[in-house]
Amino acid sequence: MMKKYDVIVIGAGPGGMTSALYASRANLSVLMIDRGIYGGQMNNTADIENYPGFKSILGPDLSKKMYESATGFGAEYAYGTVQAVEDKGSFKIVRTDNDEYETSVLIIGTGSQYRKLGVPGEEEYGGRGVSYCAVCDGAFFRNKEVIVVGGGDSAIQESLYLSNLASKVTVIHRRDQLRAQKVLQDRAFADDKINFVWNSNVTEITGDGNKVNGVKVLNTKDNSESTVDANGVFIYVGNTPMTDPFKSLGITDEKGWIPTNERMETKVPGIFAIGDVRAKELRQIATAVGDGGIAGQNAFEYIQSNN
Ligand code: NAP
Repeated sequence: MMKKYDVIVIGAGPGGMTSALYASRANLSVLMIDRGIYGGQMNNTADIENYPGFKSILGPDLSKKMYESATGFGAEYAYGTVQAVEDKGSFKIVRTDNDEYETSVLIIGTGSQYRKLGVPGEEEYGGRGVSYCAVCDGAFFRNKEVIVVGGGDSAIQESLYLSNLASKVTVIHRRDQLRAQKVLQDRAFADDKINFVWNSNVTEITGDGNKVNGVKVLNTKDNSESTVDANGVFIYVGNTPMTDPFKSLGITDEKGWIPTNERMETKVPGIFAIGDVRAKELRQIATAVGDGGIAGQNAFEYIQSNN
């Protein structure tokens, strides 16, 4: 027998958990499905200091608090990787690798995943010096030299985290200005351990066959080539949306993000999208939480008006 819910939320990041809280508190039956532990990208973040109510909180700690809120009104949680969704009009079918569910409302909060640089050495030295998660792997580079590639919030925030561990952090950015928020930039510029290589693209990650020993860099202004030595390379060059199972619904834009209206409704009635997976300007925990609350409430209204 297929399990039935009023609301299924795919992805238990901050947006998904907030949707689950709102919908279950409105007395709907709710299932959150995630392929890993609840919290999403919050789990890869050390200090979160722009989520109201906490001067600073560890990502995994905030994840746990949100999970407790989400499940406190009866929302359930299931592990599973969603393979496909079928829109049957008044209900939707959700297929995971090991289960099949029916739901009146679907809320998609699958977020995004790190983008790869796509240069030689990146795959070869994955897990042997190349990393996409400073919180996970930073401790391996205590008192060693590391490179961070990118100039956005993630690159600069994680450079600041790594500077507490590493002996030197070199940020390599393709332009001469950072994209990161000014408050993070100011801190990074004031940090003696953080150095910048501007207007430069990493063209190869090099190693000794076993571990990373540096990168090759091409200067975009004068086309000069150089090398930077390091034991680790952390790559933070943005994200791509995790929307493959939803492509057949016709709700994604040309880059794969999901546009919604202010009610978080997608093109398909009864399917909402929230958080980082949505086509939007500001991808933050606070904005994901806002999206989640709106979708959870509108899920209730959708069910009321379709019953
Ligand atoms: P992002 O904002 O998209 O920044 C990506 C960075 O990588 C940019 O500096 C970009 O350069 C560079 N880049 C992109 N492709 C590249 C390539 N092929 N080679 C070299 N460099 C490349 O991504 P993000 O920093 O991961 O942040 C994602 C979202 O999460 C953003 O909305 C961000 O605000 C949010 N976030 C917020 C916080 C916070 O509030 N504390 C922390 C982390 C993330 P250009 O600048 O030249 O485009």
